[in-house]
Amino acid sequence: MKPLPRLGVFGGGQLGRMLAMAALPLEVACSFYETQADAPAAVLGPTFGDSSDSDAALAAFLASADVFTYEFENIDIALVERIAASKPVYPGIASLRQAQHRLQEKSLFAELAIPTPAWRAVHALSDLEAAARDLGLPLVVKTTTLGYDGKGQYVVRTPADISDCWQTLGAQASLIAESFVSFRRELSIIAVRGKDGETVIYPLSENQHQQGILALSVVPAPALDDAVRRQAEDYIRRLLEHLQHVGALTLELFETADGLLANEMAPRVHNSGHWSIEGADCSQFENHVRAVLGLPLGSTACPRPTAMLNVLGQHPKREQVLAVPGAHLHLYGKSARPGRKLGHITVSADTLAQLQVAIARLRACLPG
Ligand code: AMP
Repeated sequence: MKPLPRLGVFGGGQLGRMLAMAALPLEVACSFYETQADAPAAVLGPTFGDSSDSDAALAAFLASADVFTYEFENIDIALVERIAASKPVYPGIASLRQAQHRLQEKSLFAELAIPTPAWRAVHALSDLEAAARDLGLPLVVKTTTLGYDGKGQYVVRTPADISDCWQTLGAQASLIAESFVSFRRELSIIAVRGKDGETVIYPLSENQHQQGILALSVVPAPALDDAVRRQAEDYIRRLLEHLQHVGALTLELFETADGLLANEMAPRVHNSGHWSIEGADCSQFENHVRAVLGLPLGSTACPRPTAMLNVLGQHPKREQVLAVPGAHLHLYGKSARPGRKLGHITVSADTLAQLQVAIARLRACLPG
């Protein structure tokens, strides 16, 4: 049997670790472009990345694998382009570029007729004042690059907040101002597209955040209107086709009384898809690995209602979590720090009511 190509992953965090765990049974070896020797993925393959000699590190990383992917979108595109000059990188640079910049991302959504909150680009204090006049308050103001988990955001509630917001965020970065959406709930949809265009789509997840960080996902999103599901699938298909995307793509959505609004996309596996490790026939990680290596994709069916709870800031007692029937604990090998994603728990049940009971028991296991 022909050996499968080796996979090089930009980044060695928990997403890289779970990609490598999914790659292992397929006899796909992973290597990582990652400067921290104790990164979560480092136990699963060699890491390359040396801030003092990045050329040599990149050359060694390039030699270590045949196909490349990434676990986060805030990578220096020039590095990815250097790899892409000689070996395949999936998802392609078009997907990466759009997802790195909130203005480009929102413009792409508009081009593809995917509705979003009303927004304005902000390059000066006067733009912010104009956005407040045009869109009304509150406004959610975000840095256009490098924001994640609610970082780099400011909610302008009163006219008096405008100058403070500008001083806090605008001095360092270009901004986007968005209408504050009174959503019913937050949803996300993850799809995986193969090199031949084959596309599989996971059921939508309902996501709850704490201080901007994902805390809980429930799948399939309870009481979801079938027309809303089809709409979300249509939106993500438009993105996949337009970008000729290969691999996993996540679209975060707000469900409102008037339908869905797109918040942002991630050209990668996503925290709101961790439920799929035990909850789906084939996990987002395995399907991403399959897609970038040109293998057939697996079923995204979710046979039983499933939840994912993030372990944030402090470790729970293992015994307590594992005593909850059906619970699976995934820890990432990280040290505790307030708000840090240290791991997650998945649990499935026969009914949504039983799942809610399990979620309540698991919440009680989580410190803080
Ligand atoms: P983001 O970094 O864009 O994913 O935003 C982080 C979180 O902030 C989202 O998951 C929402 O809970 C909230 N948020 C972002 N944009 C808006 C908005 N326009 N209106 C209301 N809430 C928002």
